Amino acid sequence: MSTSAFADHYQCRSCSHRDLELIVDLGAQPLANSFLSRDELLRMEPTYPLPLLYCSNCHLVQIPPATSAHAIFSDYLYMSSYTRSWVDHARAYVDQVAGRFDLGPQSQVIEIASNDGYLLQFVCRKGIPALGIEPAANVAKLAEEKGVPTRVAFFGKDTARSLVAEGLAADLIVANNVLAHVPDLNDFVGGFAVILKSQGVATFEFPHLANLIGQTQFDTIYHEHFSYISLLAARNVFRRHSLRVFDVEKLPTHGGSLRLYVCRDDASHATSPAVDALIEEEKQLGLERLETFQNFAGACRRVKNNLMKFLIAAAEGGKVVCGYGAPAKGNTLLNFCGARADLIAFTVDRNPYKQDRFLPGTHIPILAPDEIAAKKPDYVLILPWNIKTEICAQMGHIRDWGGKFLVAVPELKLF
Ligand SMILES: [Zn+2]
Repeated sequence: MSTSAFADHYQCRSCSHRDLELIVDLGAQPLANSFLSRDELLRMEPTYPLPLLYCSNCHLVQIPPATSAHAIFSDYLYMSSYTRSWVDHARAYVDQVAGRFDLGPQSQVIEIASNDGYLLQFVCRKGIPALGIEPAANVAKLAEEKGVPTRVAFFGKDTARSLVAEGLAADLIVANNVLAHVPDLNDFVGGFAVILKSQGVATFEFPHLANLIGQTQFDTIYHEHFSYISLLAARNVFRRHSLRVFDVEKLPTHGGSLRLYVCRDDASHATSPAVDALIEEEKQLGLERLETFQNFAGACRRVKNNLMKFLIAAAEGGKVVCGYGAPAKGNTLLNFCGARADLIAFTVDRNPYKQDRFLPGTHIPILAPDEIAAKKPDYVLILPWNIKTEICAQMGHIRDWGGKFLVAVPELKLF
């Protein structure tokens, strides 16, 4: 049974099934990274629907395409090398795969969405030929400056075919945190089948659906993330393109991720028992049952109701609440709740680009972190809950005036 009129208008990004089930409607939301200048507050602000849909045929959880991927990614501001722990993660990965798959000067490594060369720089240092594929020209330029050969392109079958025509084929393709961002999943995965050598390996990292559902991480849903992926759903996509998942690892990144190792169906890589074990675990978690997602929707609404009850009571009691951080996930949360500057006076962020701007949709002002000490709010709502320990340590001085920290996800908690 279809639960929403608009669900009928989309077909599954993976299997083309129609009649997708609406899990939860997060409302009309602006793009989560479109921070506003003071001038822009007076202009019309585009918003797009953000319904989370479930395909009962192939188990992919997804949002419909709201806007062009080109508009979102062609001038992308996020530079991977800004995040120290992410660079360390990349270095450890390169050491591991170079050993496991015996990569050397005779091999070819390709990375999709290679960003500023944060990962391929380590491949180059080992003397292994590398090529980055990166859609954002401004970011690709930074990679070239590091000595990482980079092609400005979106990856798909066409790009793969033109690389093959130039004589390129891959021993290893790296696709970290890109699968979830791809609007045309079959064209993207089909490209791997075109360019992978007969014994070549592709690895994919993406946030695991099990954590989104289990930890009520609904604020990680925004327009840049088209798919929310389980191994069950991923395996169905790869099978369609004669590719096989032969190993899987769990990673702590982004609130809990998976790394899949994929090869051609007929390649000689033996399938690890970890693959069937994780499929079994996902079935135990109910990631192939509609009921699981309906329960998740209830949990999302509880988060919203509890946060709003708290904020309204605080406002009526004359207390000042501010935010900490201006991450994309905070915007999904606040826009879903409808919490504006009358309830959250301001937020702060260390990124100077975001300071003196306003959160999209809610128009909450973003200030520098030392404004917290100046304004002494009663409560600080931590929006990037994944780094709450770090923030508590940095901002411990709020206790000097009796201030308290607060998180809303996975449930409301004061500390
Ligand atoms: Zn499907």
